[in-house]
Amino acid sequence: MKITSAEFVVSNSDVAKCPKSGLPEYAFIGRSNVGKSSLINMLTGRKSLAKTSGKPGKTQLINHFLINKNWHLVDLPGYGYARVSKTAKKTFQKFITEYFSKRLQMVCAFVLVDIRHKPQNIDLDFMQWLGENGIPFCIIFTKADKLKPMAIEKHVEDYKTILLETWEDMPNYFITSSSKSIGKDDVLHYIDELNNS
Ligand code: GDP
Repeated sequence: MKITSAEFVVSNSDVAKCPKSGLPEYAFIGRSNVGKSSLINMLTGRKSLAKTSGKPGKTQLINHFLINKNWHLVDLPGYGYARVSKTAKKTFQKFITEYFSKRLQMVCAFVLVDIRHKPQNIDLDFMQWLGENGIPFCIIFTKADKLKPMAIEKHVEDYKTILLETWEDMPNYFITSSSKSIGKDDVLHYIDELNNS
């Protein structure tokens, strides 16, 4: 799929205020600093559609972008800040639960994980929760430029080993690098297929 238009639609902290149109939407979520903004910019071919920063943001906002006038790319807040309080974590959980339970037009969630790290509980727990709740998801491994191919393979295998302890299949996954523009076509092709299915 070629992206011909990408427009920011709305940012809000209330799921009820998300766009009412039933356009299919694809959610991008991961730990703060995983490279989500960079990935969104790579996918859409826009330098700063999503803001990138070295610092984890604090505001929990859902950002909707309209792509090619026929689907929404949804930038969900990052999770897993080391320093947030228990209350903040609970609020976040409620917020995300509400998003996934109310947005029936959500076709697939892309869970971003940094390929450099071994599987982390916070990501595994989130995937477990998505699986248990029947929410379709894929994994997007980010920052692949930082590792050699053998190490990438090893880290993907580590994920497979753990996920297959609980689930029958490994979710679809993509290896990406926003710095080197790796994986863009694969992700967009996948979305295109889902849009046309
Ligand atoms: P977000 O907090 O998940 O939105 O992450 P950002 O996109 O703001 O990126 C966090 C940091 O990781 C920034 O310093 C980026 O330059 C860096 N980064 C993001 N994607 C890549 C990538 O593909 N390769 C490398 N080497 N660094 C990346």
